[in-house]
Amino acid sequence: MESLDRMAREKLEALEAGRLRRQLVTTARGEGLIAERGGRRLVSFSCNDYLGLSTDPRIVAAAVEATLRFGAGAGASRLVTGNHPLYQDLEARLARLKGTEDAIVFGSGYLANSGIVPALTGPRDLVLVDALAHACIFSGARLSGATVEIFPHNDTDAVEALLAARRREARHCLILTDGVFSMDGDLASLDALAEIAERHDAWLMTDDAHGVGVIGGGRGSACAFDPAPRVPLQMGTLSKAIGAYGGYLCASAPVVDLLRSRARSFVYSTGLPPGTVAAAIAALEVIETEPELVARPVILARRFATAVGLPTPVSPIVPVILGSADTALAAAAELERAGFLVVAIRPPTVPHGTARLRITFAATHTEDDVDRLADAVRQVVTRCDARSS
Ligand SMILES: *Cc1c(COP(=O)(O)O)cnc(C)c1O
Repeated sequence: MESLDRMAREKLEALEAGRLRRQLVTTARGEGLIAERGGRRLVSFSCNDYLGLSTDPRIVAAAVEATLRFGAGAGASRLVTGNHPLYQDLEARLARLKGTEDAIVFGSGYLANSGIVPALTGPRDLVLVDALAHACIFSGARLSGATVEIFPHNDTDAVEALLAARRREARHCLILTDGVFSMDGDLASLDALAEIAERHDAWLMTDDAHGVGVIGGGRGSACAFDPAPRVPLQMGTLSKAIGAYGGYLCASAPVVDLLRSRARSFVYSTGLPPGTVAAAIAALEVIETEPELVARPVILARRFATAVGLPTPVSPIVPVILGSADTALAAAAELERAGFLVVAIRPPTVPHGTARLRITFAATHTEDDVDRLADAVRQVVTRCDARSS
């Protein structure tokens, strides 16, 4: 189809012109945080495997054992025959970690958000979303058919004002936010949001993809506050600190039950492979029993920030904002030459003019890795400043 390929080429050229075309780079993951690219071994600071559990021998062994016992795939949707015996254990552990009545596991975090929001809200409802929330939260919000209002990042006054103006005309209201923001590493103001939500009878839902396993003693962003605010809907992924794959929601028993019948991405998608579920179970066991491991990524992020002169991080994610996509790409290339894999994040993943290096710290980095990266980043930033002035 000539017109089809022409359309694709024209769109690619436009992306290229804006330096927004994305490319897959084959990257083998070696021992620990070594990434192998084009024959070079780089220390990766771009991985969300915060605790190194994806390559931890205990987790890998659990995956292998379950695969040998139950097979490579689930074979069907969980409502048909894909609900292998490991799911019950995983969902019970997730609920226990988050202190909720129940939990439901989805095929991925993206599938979770795409399914949860439309199952809970519809055309007569109001959905408020933080402007910097993850792309899949917006996908879920759009699919719901509810009225979607985007509030400025972490602006709780704006949430209050929106609710005061709009809550009454809506049947139900859902407030959606990342717990830890994936590109900035800051926390949602969950204490204030929970209070506002309660007062307006709105339901607060966090996406804790970057919180679980690394903050709040491993229990996630709500537990980073004292006292922990009430967050009735806590979604997350099994693919970051938990080191496996899949998504989940921790909530009350009736909400989880409703989703088992009504979340389309749950009902009409195949269950996760048994090995993946077993890996997540083994990882949760580690998270519950090894507090030093859980604390280490944030400790290393703080060590780096101190060395570079950045504000004290509250999560393992540290952004170094450089401005233009070009500058960020050049900085990432320079760090690669120095032996580090630090990915440049560009629009539309982040707002225009805030292209950045997004640096993530993991328990498996050494202090020496962190100190050498800090030296390299200081040099790169100095050169960027010199060029742009
Ligand atoms: C990674 C991420 C997701 C998607 O989770 P997957 O399991 O990778 O699909 C959702 N929300 C946030 C905030 C994320 O960072």
